[in-house]
This record gives sequence, structure tokens and C-alpha cells, in this order.
Amino acid sequence: MARIRAIANQKGGVGKTTTGINLAASLAATKRRVLLIDMDPQGNATMGSGLDKYQLESSTLDLMLGRADIEDVIFPAANNGYDIIPANGDLTAAEVGLIKMPRKEYRLRDALASVIRRYHYILVDCPPSLNMLTVNALVASEGVMIPIQCEYYALEGLTALMNTIEHIRLSVNRNLEIAGLLRTMFDPRNNLANDVSSQLVSHFGDRVYRTVIPRNVRLAEAPSYGIPALSHDRSSSGTLAYLALAGEIIRRDQQAEHKPDQEIS
Ligand code: ATP
Ligand code: MG
Repeated sequence: MARIRAIANQKGGVGKTTTGINLAASLAATKRRVLLIDMDPQGNATMGSGLDKYQLESSTLDLMLGRADIEDVIFPAANNGYDIIPANGDLTAAEVGLIKMPRKEYRLRDALASVIRRYHYILVDCPPSLNMLTVNALVASEGVMIPIQCEYYALEGLTALMNTIEHIRLSVNRNLEIAGLLRTMFDPRNNLANDVSSQLVSHFGDRVYRTVIPRNVRLAEAPSYGIPALSHDRSSSGTLAYLALAGEIIRRDQQAEHKPDQEIS
């Protein structure tokens, strides 16, 4: 059964999509079957996975509005080892299109039901907003990964995101939890980055992933070739960090599975 993870932070440009693409490729490199869902009208995860967002036959929008079967919106992400449900600017129509739909918060969850046995991980790349698309991702997920750039305004907005997660957990998805906070674009020579990082750890403890994603030019270049950094430069610090993150996530999930029930509650 797939572990469904939303990659969310309504703050823009913090590394959500970079994490979606590179984590999908890294998990796939460990022989996990992975589906990446582009839930952002910007279509960055789509382009970064080697699909042309201007030439899509079908996309996340069709799935959300019930116009296509899930089998018709899943595509192999070039030679990257994972599958993707792509998106483009059309997805902006989802917000209005969903208004009159029944179970509008559950559209993604309902649509994924038939494929959750096919994948080990389903990652949902959210838009930089707490809109209905993000709500659908959170309702469908059992964990939220929150990429955070360690800079002055990093913690601003985190409360709104935490409140949204808590609200969804209490109302429609009691399984939802914070899978982890991920420090991205980290520069260890920057004092402020180190301060923010220690604040995160002292506030969120174990929920901060040990793996830190460094600022690395290969991670920024790879999307222009439609490939993850793993296929662009196997030994770059960015590639190695996302491989380490995949390892950490798999280990954490295996530990959670082996915990006796009474410890989980
Ligand atoms: P949005 O909110 O617009 O969807 P995002 O949170 O998905 O943005 P990304 O698109 O992943 O963020 O990253 C923003 C920019 O920073 C991109 O140009 C990306 O290539 C670059 N970037 C992300 N992570 C790194 C990194 N670790 N090192 C260097 N550049 C990075
Ligand atoms: Mg993005």
C-alpha cells in the first residue's frame, strides 16, 4: 500500500518541486515504485520530469474534475524511473470547477484509491498556496513533508500551514501527520541559516529530517534538461543529499511499521 506524501509549503520557491522530482528519482533508484503528482498549475514538476506541459494529452485537472480515468493520466517520467500525473496552467480552472462538485475535498483521495496498491510512494507536489488543490493533497495524504529554506522569513507562514494541517486532521483526515520538515538550499557558511536551522530543531525535534539539502547548482540546472539531478550528475552534493533523504525516509517508515500499536497512538 502506497505511502502518500504531500510536499507542501504555501511559501513560494522553497524547494517543493525540486524535492518532489529528486526524491521520486531517489526512491525509484532504491527499486521503490513511485508516482509523482503535479498539483501545481505552474507545471514545474511536469517539465522537470521530461514532459512538455504545453503538449499534455491529459492532466491532473482531468482527474480532479472526473473527466479522465486515472489510468489515462499516468505517464512514465521519461527515463527517470518513476511515473507522473502531469499538470499545466489549465489546472487553475480546478478551483472554480470543483465548487459544485460533490466531495470536492476528496477528489484526489477518491481518484487514487485504485492505484495505491501499485506504488510504494505517491508524492504530491503542491502549489505555493493553501487552496483547494493543496487541501485535496492533504486530504489524500498520510504525511506532509514541509521543505523549508533556512532564512529570515522561513518560519513566517509555518503557523498557518500547521493550523491547516491540524484542521484537516481533526475534520476529514485523522491519519494526517507531519512526516517531516526538510531544510533546503542550505548554506552552512551562512550564520542566519544555522540559527534558523537550530530554531527548527529545538522547536520540532525529531520531526526535522536529519538530512539537509545543500544549495547546489546541479539541482537548479537539472530541470532544464527534464531530468533529476541523479541523471545529470550522479556525484553532486545535491544528488547525494536526496539519495540520503530517500534512505532516511525508508528507514523511518520501516521503523514506524515495526512499532507495536500501543506506541503509535
Ligand atoms: P514554487 O512555490 O514556485 O512551486 P518550489 O517551492 O517548488 O517553488 P523549487 O521550484 O523547487 O521551489 O525551487 C525554487 C528555485 O530554487 C528553482 O529555481 C530551483 O531550481 C532552485 N533550487 C531548489 N532547491 C535548490 C538547491 N538545493 N540548490 C540550488 N537551487 C535550488
Ligand atoms: Mg513548485
